[in-house]
Amino acid sequence: MESGYFETIAIRTQTERSQYKEHSVPIYLTSSYKFDDAEEMRALFANEKEGNVYSRYANPNTSELIEKMALLEGAETGWATSTGMAAIFTTFGAFLQNGDHVLSSRSVFGSTHQLLNNVFSKWGITYNYADLDKPETWEAMIQPNTKMIYVETPSNPGIDIIDIAYLAEISKRHGVMLVIDNCFATPYLQRPLGLGADISIHSATKYLDGQGRTLGGLILGNKDLIDEIGGFARHSGPALSPFNAWILSKSLETLAVRMDRHCENALKVAEYLETRPEVKVVKYPFLKSHPQYEIAKKQMAQGGGVVTLTLNGGLEGARNFMDGLKMFSITANLADTRSIATHPATSTHNKLTEEQRNEVGIEQGSIRLSIGLEHINDILGDVKSGLENMG
Ligand SMILES: *Cc1c(COP(=O)(O)O)cnc(C)c1O
Repeated sequence: MESGYFETIAIRTQTERSQYKEHSVPIYLTSSYKFDDAEEMRALFANEKEGNVYSRYANPNTSELIEKMALLEGAETGWATSTGMAAIFTTFGAFLQNGDHVLSSRSVFGSTHQLLNNVFSKWGITYNYADLDKPETWEAMIQPNTKMIYVETPSNPGIDIIDIAYLAEISKRHGVMLVIDNCFATPYLQRPLGLGADISIHSATKYLDGQGRTLGGLILGNKDLIDEIGGFARHSGPALSPFNAWILSKSLETLAVRMDRHCENALKVAEYLETRPEVKVVKYPFLKSHPQYEIAKKQMAQGGGVVTLTLNGGLEGARNFMDGLKMFSITANLADTRSIATHPATSTHNKLTEEQRNEVGIEQGSIRLSIGLEHINDILGDVKSGLENMG
């Protein structure tokens, strides 16, 4: 690593090169590793010596990705997983036991909600949801058996923001661990560990890859906590493949330039939408009209690439808007070079009741836009044709 600058770390953090002196890191497609002799094998298995044993534990490609991400996130170390959900499952699995309670909010990724509701509940782990936009209610909801506070900020798709430093303060006061899903922000825009969180989690599938190619997950934190994560993950097996780790390590080299452009384009779209009569509400962290604008400014470097809007005209308005788009992809994913429109009420959040959807700020007229890297004139032009199609 050549300096402390984000861009330089993201490009220059590399594992050692082979005898061929390749400039770009090779892919190590190997499931296991040789030992020089019986003594080396013993020492590695006894954790007396560092080195690779088996790719379910570590591989040069995953190690490079983890080292780079830990530096970018300001973490001591980390663990890489096959998907974002594997990162979340592993974090819950490593730290929660029968009888523990998790305090979270309904504004979490759908599958995270399913994990709490259908999987961990089977093992006697309970949870409650507080509102992201009512931080004053969180402390009173901490129970004697609360082990973890788990939140996403900004949230998906409501784009609500909660003050991480405030949650860290109440977590410390009650001896509770604070876990942040930092997927929407990436370490380029927000570093939860520096604000007092214990663990930062990513779905690398989103902006870290940013090109819609691969699934992946990362868990970052201090060495003691990551050792516990590793203890669970070595035996439960959510390992990231070396090939996907290689892709993700390459992707990080361009994260800063990509995020700058995603944020610049998204802010322009958000500002444009605010001027249009068809639009009831626009949620974007760096719009002055955002209810938690001051907190967003304090903890994020820029507003991110996702804009959520609610159109006048309910379901019909939303459908006409989507059908009027010529360039945006209609896809449930986000954080791609390609701009994407999603109608959460009939796709990602169709399993929720109307009331539960309202709790997370999704109406029938709500649309989530993941703003890509096409030319801004084409992006704005397409948003305009969507609005014009509303009649
Ligand atoms: C996509 C996503 C996840 C899940 O990640 P996968 O890589 O799809 O498993 C978790 N959290 C957030 C905020 C996400 O957007």
